[in-house]
Amino acid sequence: MSVRQNPSLDVLKHFRRSVEGLEAPSMAQDAGRTDPGVRTGLDAKVQHAVQLMDPCHLCFRRCGVRRLQGETGFCGIKQGGNIVLEAVLCGEEEIVNPTYEVFLAGCNLRCGFCYESRWIEDPGSVLEVESGTLADRIARTVPIRASNVHWVGGEPSVHLPWIVSVLRDLSAPVPVVWNSNMLMTDEALEILTGIPDLILADIHFGCGECADAMSGFAGYFNWVKRQILKCAGKVDMIIRHLFLPGHFECCYLPIAEWIAENCPTIPFHVMPQYVPPSRMKMPIPDRRTRPDEIERAVETAKLMKLNVMERPFIPGGGPAGTPGFETEIEIFQDGTVAIRNFSGDFIDMVRFLQSGETDTGRFERTSDNRDR
Ligand code: SF4
Repeated sequence: MSVRQNPSLDVLKHFRRSVEGLEAPSMAQDAGRTDPGVRTGLDAKVQHAVQLMDPCHLCFRRCGVRRLQGETGFCGIKQGGNIVLEAVLCGEEEIVNPTYEVFLAGCNLRCGFCYESRWIEDPGSVLEVESGTLADRIARTVPIRASNVHWVGGEPSVHLPWIVSVLRDLSAPVPVVWNSNMLMTDEALEILTGIPDLILADIHFGCGECADAMSGFAGYFNWVKRQILKCAGKVDMIIRHLFLPGHFECCYLPIAEWIAENCPTIPFHVMPQYVPPSRMKMPIPDRRTRPDEIERAVETAKLMKLNVMERPFIPGGGPAGTPGFETEIEIFQDGTVAIRNFSGDFIDMVRFLQSGETDTGRFERTSDNRDR
């Protein structure tokens, strides 16, 4: 599997080797692994993780509910494995594409701008999948169509015991991407150690007041900083920040300054795709992020000598034969078109539309009801 290059990602040596199947770096051995993607001690990690659910202290909320007895806490998850969507997608950073994304319901936060709020607020409406069933699908799909399996939500930490079970049940190991808000407890982080090949760590808010107003957790930034620092240098990581309109001074600057002081080599991705929610609950202007705001944020980060990712989303051609799934297209009043969940097929279709060609033969509907 070839991995495209972006200079800011050169530091992600372990992940690159993992997806290319090259010789294991010492980092993997330090973390208890012997080969790229090979994880040891997963039986013990599953047992330990299950204990953290009863009473539950997998994340900062420490609800203390007995999830093994069917009780649910803030996240609403019982045993875990409530899959909203799983598909090979190409809409992440170039080094991650194509990626087998497993979108999980349930979260330990309630961010007012979350575009998956329907699955966050009612995760019980999403069926749980057996770990062995998903392990089979991953083992059949990833080696052929994707470069990794990618856990995302919601928040994957609230499903930790189930996810470790899936990885244990894999017939052959695959590289793992952990896409997280980093609000897990120290105990959960200890279990996670040695499992991901790459962490995509989100930092949403840079001050307690904004975090409290928008997510209900005033201690957010301090918690996230602490957990990121525990992982820094032990596992490859990209720090992501979804830029919030009007929150340059209060949120963006403290985040950028903290990264500059503590972990400036970690690739930093300033994400421009904030979309105002239909029901405003937050102190944010009711508009999308302006290009000049992103430009200012990126220039500021460069002046601070952060490892800023340039052109972070460069979707490739995509894997052949991506299974059908729901791609959401939203058209705003200003004419902007937002596309969620990029498949390889969809990228081909967008390119075709941009090209101005008129021969639509290659996109005729096929017997399995997919566009090609
Ligand atoms: S994982 Fe869920 S139940 Fe457990 S502490 Fe966090 S929010 Fe509460």
